[in-house]
Amino acid sequence: MSRDAYHDDLGAPRGPVVGRPEVLRRFPELAAAWDLADRVFPVRITRSFWERALAAGAPLMRQVLPDVRELEPFDGERVDPVGERRFNPLPWVVHKEPSRVLLLVTKRCHLYCRYCFRRTHDPADAEDPSPEAWDAAIRYAAASGAEEVILSGGDPLAARDAVLFDAIDRLRPTIPVIRIHTRAPITRPDRVTPALVAGLAARAPVWTVVHCNHADELSPDVDAALARLVDAGLPVLNQAVLLAGVNDDPEALAGLCRALVRRRVFPYYLHHPDAVLGAGHFAVDRARGLEIYGALARRVSGVALPRYVLDAPDGSGKRDVLADARAPLV
Ligand code: SF4
Repeated sequence: MSRDAYHDDLGAPRGPVVGRPEVLRRFPELAAAWDLADRVFPVRITRSFWERALAAGAPLMRQVLPDVRELEPFDGERVDPVGERRFNPLPWVVHKEPSRVLLLVTKRCHLYCRYCFRRTHDPADAEDPSPEAWDAAIRYAAASGAEEVILSGGDPLAARDAVLFDAIDRLRPTIPVIRIHTRAPITRPDRVTPALVAGLAARAPVWTVVHCNHADELSPDVDAALARLVDAGLPVLNQAVLLAGVNDDPEALAGLCRALVRRRVFPYYLHHPDAVLGAGHFAVDRARGLEIYGALARRVSGVALPRYVLDAPDGSGKRDVLADARAPLV
């Protein structure tokens, strides 16, 4: 598939965004932060998310606005915070566990979250796999013997439907379950078109794992996008990241989890923030995280309670933070 055919073609590539002048009209004090931060990790905010952030304030704005602290070092920071670079059998492939293979469809996203654990991609590298590299990645995954292939990125929905459908078709029948890890239903809900949903439903079982951190991200157009997926029989799960100044509060998390369940989205994981280079200002102390999680568990039912996990920096995978904290007592 040619590069021109790779990205979605809904209006402007990856949807309408809010540019620097408009953001600085609202926050003139961020001019220096924009210029500094944009050099290490692009600032890109979809108009859809911006409208919600204007109404909600800090919990959403902090996720997307540049901050001079992105250039400040902090204790424990890592370029590869979840230790996945040792598990790249091929470019665009992460294979840590025998049961699943991750394919990085693209490095592009509709919106760039300032805490992203993959924010340290080398800007000199390609944003998308070449046709040859993508072909090799799919062949590797199809022959891996894995039960699940995860289409990730970047945001896999920054690629066109045809790219995704073709990948799934080539992975079947050897790969029974496909997962799509995407923030697009939250950052650019109009990307979840009826054609995309129908194409994924025709290729079931396809699970969609979205990424929403605060209930204020759930606007009516996001609700509609999630409903299109669920109504088509596509299971939808959510991963949230515990982030200072965004959702490091039991009430905020309880509100998010309850809101997700009402929308038939299972709150799957609450991630402890990774020690991402440039994201130290989002860090939450582990003891405080456990305190917040304990308070969350007392507020919501079992179906609304995500697992609180930490992706180990040594690449050994997800660890249950609560179980880890209790381990010395066993
Ligand atoms: S959408 Fe996901 S991959 Fe993209 S910047 Fe946000 S967290 Fe990172």
